[in-house]
Amino acid sequence: MDSCDGFSAKKRTYKEVSCQHNDPNGDSQTFIRCLTQDFDDQRCQDDGFETATSIDQAEVEDNIKRNIEVLRCNREIDPQCLIMHKELHLKYLKKGLQNLPSSLEILDCSRPWLCYWMLHSIEILKEDISEETKSKVIGFLSSCQHPDGGFGGGPGQEAHLAPTYAAVNALCILRCEEAYNVINREKLLEFLLRLRKIDGSFKLHEGSETDIRGVYCALSVAMLTSVWCDELIKNTAHWVSRCQTYEGGFGGVPDMEAHGGYTFCGLASLVLLQEGKLINHHRLLRWLVNRQTKFEGGFQGRTNKLVDSCYSFWQGGCFPLLHRLLAKTEPDLTTCSNWLFHQRALQEYLLIHCQAPHGGLIDKPGKSKDYYHTCYALSGLSVAQHFNYKRKVVDFILGPDDNELLYTHPIYNICVPSAVKAINYFQGLPFPKVQLAKDDTDSD
Ligand SMILES: [Zn+2]
Repeated sequence: MDSCDGFSAKKRTYKEVSCQHNDPNGDSQTFIRCLTQDFDDQRCQDDGFETATSIDQAEVEDNIKRNIEVLRCNREIDPQCLIMHKELHLKYLKKGLQNLPSSLEILDCSRPWLCYWMLHSIEILKEDISEETKSKVIGFLSSCQHPDGGFGGGPGQEAHLAPTYAAVNALCILRCEEAYNVINREKLLEFLLRLRKIDGSFKLHEGSETDIRGVYCALSVAMLTSVWCDELIKNTAHWVSRCQTYEGGFGGVPDMEAHGGYTFCGLASLVLLQEGKLINHHRLLRWLVNRQTKFEGGFQGRTNKLVDSCYSFWQGGCFPLLHRLLAKTEPDLTTCSNWLFHQRALQEYLLIHCQAPHGGLIDKPGKSKDYYHTCYALSGLSVAQHFNYKRKVVDFILGPDDNELLYTHPIYNICVPSAVKAINYFQGLPFPKVQLAKDDTDSD
């Protein structure tokens, strides 16, 4: 990996990247793919064998088609109708940071996640976060930190790798020392080392099972906060590589079905470990490109499943990572104008079908908005708009220029300036002194 872009594990200096605008399809920003003649030909064919899955798929496509017809009418009035409704989304997000409906009580053990989903969405929409809000979020996340390291899903809850990842990301988004200094790095590293197993995998919390999410969460926070060390990553790359399935994507553990979320976790982990060579790139690419749906334009999470906007990032975010791996071995396949997936189709899906009328983004037409899908739909849109190639960010913004989002870092999924500032800050601190465990003995 290049050492200038945040992908490498080694200490690095960040440089400004130059920007250029590019339209890789040779079409204008106002061209709309789904309004072309015979677009219906892209619909799924069941070959005369109707199944429960094909019925669900047809229902989704009918909803998509209705939206396309509305768009066709709107476009006659306003050719620039593919608008990202930023103000409405920001209103929804800022309201959530102040007050949540009682229906979200079910997410009581995911409260750092709610902070992260909202803060990242606000940041990606290029809105500043007020000092008052920062201060409240810092106070709250601080109360979620466990005295023995890591963060729980709420104050007083057991530490768990998933909310630890969310809390660290949220604090990095705030981009200030007060936020960074909440993190007890010494205890965090001890926590991570306690969760590591001899085979290189990570438990999600003490006494739990292991899966590939644990690996990604552990490595991401270790890199961001600069507590990365050899003891933490021993055998991990090999364990992660065993999660690649015959299909090409990654399962949660070896021999499980390939899935978008696990695939992102596996690939991002291997990129952080600089061990991308351990997996079959072509098989992964084939699986990923086939997860982008032809008619809807968005991604599905698994083979034969329905489109869902959150996979715009979980699957879409894999492409910049894989592009970098392939660039070493397949320079012809990986040019500046070849993004490996159909970024116009993905932008159309998100802009036309996933914006809720009063702000927030949805999974697919017919679903309700929520903060999780708002975060990952916007993150996927950012991935489809920006592409980092040889130290240049190449942009392709569908619709008006104002639709442009900030560029999200494809490993950590916080915006690049936040990742850079946090890594630079923590690299300036001494490495925490920890008692390394009785090496390589599993606690379970
Ligand atoms: Zn989803």
